[in-house]
Amino acid sequence: PAQLRQILEAEQQGADDRARATRIQYGADEVEAAIANDELVNHYQPKVSVRSGEVVGVEALVRWQHPRDGLVYPDQFIAVAEQHGLIEGLTRQVLCGALRQCRQWHDRGLRLSVAVNLSMSSLVRLDFPEFVAAAAKNAGVDLSWLVLEVTESQLMHNPLTALDILTRLRLKNVTLSIDDFGTGHSSLSQLRDIPFNELKVDAGFVHNAVRDSARRAILEASLDMAHRLGMKSVAEGVENLADWQFLSRRHSCDIVQGYFISRPLPAESLNAWVADWDKRSTGLTGGRA
Ligand code: C2E
Ligand code: MG
Ligand code: MG
Ligand code: MG
Repeated sequence: PAQLRQILEAEQQGADDRARATRIQYGADEVEAAIANDELVNHYQPKVSVRSGEVVGVEALVRWQHPRDGLVYPDQFIAVAEQHGLIEGLTRQVLCGALRQCRQWHDRGLRLSVAVNLSMSSLVRLDFPEFVAAAAKNAGVDLSWLVLEVTESQLMHNPLTALDILTRLRLKNVTLSIDDFGTGHSSLSQLRDIPFNELKVDAGFVHNAVRDSARRAILEASLDMAHRLGMKSVAEGVENLADWQFLSRRHSCDIVQGYFISRPLPAESLNAWVADWDKRSTGLTGGRA
């Protein structure tokens, strides 16, 4: 409990810091040691249905429990891991941890999907779909509970291989999600060619959309487009009641994620959070259907 409070304070502090200074970037050797020494932990941020308030899943977000510096955020080590060939090992650790955790939640009656963020490196490896299938089997989780999030820019480098890998994953019943939509070097034709199931509009178009007509235009067009392409739509960066209310009036928004609902949480606090959210969300949705 005291430790949990510390972690949540660190999440809060991390988010506050992010707006300010450019923080230190760790060296490749340090990141490599962190991976080898099991110092990375997954936190999980809830994704909820904006209509029913129901928690539909969580997104795994990696953190580094640094022995000296405390909780370190991905913007301080993911880029280094990508540049030094360490990201594939990191991704596989995060994925296996998320699947094991998913199994534990299911065993305790929490039927949640779990989303994992991919890097470009996974999208150039033809053995990746088989690795995913084996990891899920090992954890005892059906692949229909797994969501893989990719950004537009990760698809650009080797589009044909990425298409091949994502199609194989889709055929295994993995849910495919396009992340940070609107910010990458987008090629809209990829939305047509790749069998995405979910589109996540970047936080930059979501928070304060009610007061900013340019954001609102992009947000609404993206949500509508997702639906017209047969995808679920997700709004990231829901930070306050006004953001929530704005989206709950939009027929085109299915799922929301953001600090207003919850910060990313350590796995062990998910059960308690869900119980608390069930009470809080009744007031937001006007009771369950
Ligand atoms: P992302 O996948 O778009 O994840 C969402 C980020 O927005 C997370 O930051 C989350 O904590 C933050 N966020 C959540 N709610 C709000 C909100 O209401 N307002 C604002 N302003 N931000 C919010 P985080 O955890 O620092 O992760 C940053 C990025 O690092 C992620 O962006 C993702 O691209 C990357 N990342 C995180 N974990 C992994 C991982 O395991 N593997 C890879 N390859 N990348 C990861
Ligand atoms: Mg993501
Ligand atoms: Mg995102
Ligand atoms: Mg991002």
